[in-house]
Amino acid sequence: MGQCEIREKSVKILVVEDETKTGDYLRQGLTEAGFVVDLARDGLDGLHLALTEAYDLAVLDVTLPGIDGWRVLQGVRKAGKDMPVLFLTARDSVDDRVKGLDLGADDYLVKPFAFAELLARVRTLLRRGSKAREEEVLSVADLELDLRRRRVTRGGKKIDLTSKEFSLLELLLRRRGEVLPRSLIASQVWDMNFDSDTNVIEVAVRRLRSKVDDGFEPKLIRTARGMGYVIEDEGN
Ligand code: CA
Repeated sequence: MGQCEIREKSVKILVVEDETKTGDYLRQGLTEAGFVVDLARDGLDGLHLALTEAYDLAVLDVTLPGIDGWRVLQGVRKAGKDMPVLFLTARDSVDDRVKGLDLGADDYLVKPFAFAELLARVRTLLRRGSKAREEEVLSVADLELDLRRRRVTRGGKKIDLTSKEFSLLELLLRRRGEVLPRSLIASQVWDMNFDSDTNVIEVAVRRLRSKVDDGFEPKLIRTARGMGYVIEDEGN
């Protein structure tokens, strides 16, 4: 439990801004406000970062060299990334705002803006985002499975799982505390009927357990002999 409290999740923000002064100013201000900031100076770099890294929020300038902010946003949404996006626009036109919101921007700011205002908008968007995200993180004790990022951590340490192991863990966590029969696991995770001749489930559970429980306390995945498997924190 102690590990859980020490661990601090850093909030990552992507800033895409080609004007050197504004970009540096945003990076510095947001870093000082406690965020981890990546700064991209053009649209292509911005899009590449947005698709390859996990950000909690993006601040996108509209007019960028390479591809503009609209196209970065389209690419981000097309890839299924739903982080909040705040647009920076120099053009205070209704068309631009409508276009941005249509494409899936969450908010916009017209340049020039006061940093305090940007920070307030960023915090509001992050709060909104984290509310939605809560439902996408399944956990027991200090084990967390993030559905959106397809990421599993224990005590803040990343655990690499195969896609079957991930599905198996997801199923166990969704029904935390319940003993799940092998037949149910077989049909839900392997999409097959339970065949008592195969030990594929036992093998998968054993592998999953060694990744999730070895070197950690308390042990979370348990075999209910003759019945199935359960994930729970027995101390709680
Ligand atoms: Ca610009």
